[in-house]
Amino acid sequence: MNLSAYQDELDWIASQQQAMLNATSELALINSGTLNVDGIDRVGERLLQYCAPLEAEQKRIDLPPLEEIDERGELRNRPVGRAIRLRKNPQAERQILLCGHLDTVFSPEDPFQNLNWLNANRLGGPGVTDMKGGLVIMIHALMALERSVYARELGWTVIFNPDEEVGSPCSDILITEAAHQAQLGLVFEPALPDGSFAGERKGSGNFTLVMRGRAAHAGRDIGSGRNAVRALCDFISALDNLNGQREGVTINPARFHGGGPLNQVPDLAVARFNVRTRKREDEHWIQQQLNLLSAKINERNGLSLHIHGGFTRPPKQLTPAAHELSALLAECGSALDIPVRWTATGGCCDGNNIAAQGIPVIDTLGAEGGGIHSSEEFLIVDSLSRRAQLTALLLFSLARGQLDYQLWPQLNR
Ligand SMILES: [Zn+2]
Repeated sequence: MNLSAYQDELDWIASQQQAMLNATSELALINSGTLNVDGIDRVGERLLQYCAPLEAEQKRIDLPPLEEIDERGELRNRPVGRAIRLRKNPQAERQILLCGHLDTVFSPEDPFQNLNWLNANRLGGPGVTDMKGGLVIMIHALMALERSVYARELGWTVIFNPDEEVGSPCSDILITEAAHQAQLGLVFEPALPDGSFAGERKGSGNFTLVMRGRAAHAGRDIGSGRNAVRALCDFISALDNLNGQREGVTINPARFHGGGPLNQVPDLAVARFNVRTRKREDEHWIQQQLNLLSAKINERNGLSLHIHGGFTRPPKQLTPAAHELSALLAECGSALDIPVRWTATGGCCDGNNIAAQGIPVIDTLGAEGGGIHSSEEFLIVDSLSRRAQLTALLLFSLARGQLDYQLWPQLNR
């Protein structure tokens, strides 16, 4: 691949390194933990300002609330904040979708709220890598495209969603709808810790178990009680025993809440678990097992179990079109001297949901760094402009049609 046609734009990105770092730092200092609606709105506000030079059609979109089962086993609705959609060149023949999330895993109560330099090229901070740096990379790559002569050849939609860290339950509809209008997807999650890109990804589901029994005095009348804690422990043991029974499927019972005074037989217990899958059929298998196990518990007199939740991330498997897109990215990487390697991962993201719509997706185009989802999170600072150049080169190549469109699903218009 000859870079000379793109050199001006690539040089422009290099000149933006300090501006990219400033923007990343500014975004990281605004807390936008999932469900911190004010913080998420403020991050959205800043992003719209950064995106102004793109002259795209902008829209803030209200989402349905997050449905959560609380510790009393009751359904609660919680607002997640607004998503943002940007569109440019909707008339272009080639259409792509770019996604990034506004939220982080750090709530306003978390002690990790500030930036700290670990060395000249490592900046620690909440969300610097996952994924405020990624958002800045995406915007600068798009700015480079829009400055170039290839801009008119590629139409794009950007979705910034506020609920990715809890599985995008409220924004999934928006992403799915946008994926239907696009021929491929790009997501700006961080590179894997060794700098590689995520290939296949496992699917994921989150479930809540609500066990109700019957309260009784522990001393006077224990026999008439039905102990919800014991029953739910039995269920969870049986559930955990499913680990190892089907290749690629894992179950993690993660949280438990139940009981009350020590002289009372507990009538309520709530537990939560996560399931990871390798194939779409695994979801059906898990559902069957859950039905069998809950039927057994519900046979017991005076006890009832309800299972809430479900699968939010289908497994992402690599299609021929995905391989072709990966090969194009590798070509871009080798022209820029950026190694492009692929690793399968058990982690999942919005790339899973986009791939489930039948279009190829690359979902780790964001910043390099490490320690994400912990107070050790850090950004490799010079990766900002490097990775923006990589995405920009991919965008130029897509705009110029350097991908075999035979393999791409045709747009339904
Ligand atoms: Zn992320």
